[in-house]
Amino acid sequence: MRLDDYDPGDDIRDLGRGGGGFGGGGGGGLGGLLIGFLPMLLGRKMGCGTILLIGAVAFFLLGPGANLLSTGGGTSDPMTDSRSGANVACDTQAERFACNVFGSTHQVWGDLVSGYQKPTLNFFTDQNRSGCGAAQAAMGPFYCPADQGVYLDTAFFRELDSKFGAAGDAAQAYVVAHEVGHHIQTITGISDQVRRAQGRASQAEGNALQVRMELQADCYAGVWAARARTSAGQPVMEPGDMEEAMRAANAIGDDTLMRSAGQRPVPESFTHGTSEQRMTWLRRGLQTGDPRQCNAFDTAI
Ligand SMILES: [Zn+2]
Repeated sequence: MRLDDYDPGDDIRDLGRGGGGFGGGGGGGLGGLLIGFLPMLLGRKMGCGTILLIGAVAFFLLGPGANLLSTGGGTSDPMTDSRSGANVACDTQAERFACNVFGSTHQVWGDLVSGYQKPTLNFFTDQNRSGCGAAQAAMGPFYCPADQGVYLDTAFFRELDSKFGAAGDAAQAYVVAHEVGHHIQTITGISDQVRRAQGRASQAEGNALQVRMELQADCYAGVWAARARTSAGQPVMEPGDMEEAMRAANAIGDDTLMRSAGQRPVPESFTHGTSEQRMTWLRRGLQTGDPRQCNAFDTAI
């Protein structure tokens, strides 16, 4: 991808590593599992981030995570970790990239949404706090509607490659742009509407609505990528980028995640959509660059 260097203001923070709570060292390794498991635990009523938050706690309490977390740590001493002291945002290569994507999303969405207000981007390491409760690397990146913040431990970028087989900068950009997509849903009122509808719905119906939310966010990620330009007017997308992003969407489909966790996919438990659906909606945004094409609520998915 071709991106301008974004100069962060108070819209980007590096929270570093928070103290207390459960050990964080094993967290990054659990991200993929949780993305797949959480929908079955608490699949409705909340945005994906919130589900991930609560699910991570449930997983910690109920699941094999307890073992992993208690034995898999080893890097949780803040005094000996070189990353914990560095709370300057955008100061690593991975953060720099996320910052540049984030800055670019402001431009695109600022033109598309009247009265647009920026979200914040909050880097953290292993674990910290968000306006929605604990932020754990194990949850994967998430968006918190309560403080309108995107939360990201950039260790997830490495996992995308090593665990999900989705290498490349466009795969990473897709993840950031997807979370920003949830911000768009929040400021346009879509998230509230969905949450109200979920409050009246059965678990399965609530999950189905959540899937549509996530597919719309995928489509919005594609809209950003299609419309984003550098200050020199060049498209940010370079040859091969679309394939990288599509590979990431494929890798984090609910059916694929469940299968790779050794489970039979259960469609009623899906909250993010199948690999096929995620690719379809990302592609729709990429090919049209038109957010009106992203209405996943009024059409077959
Ligand atoms: Zn999401």
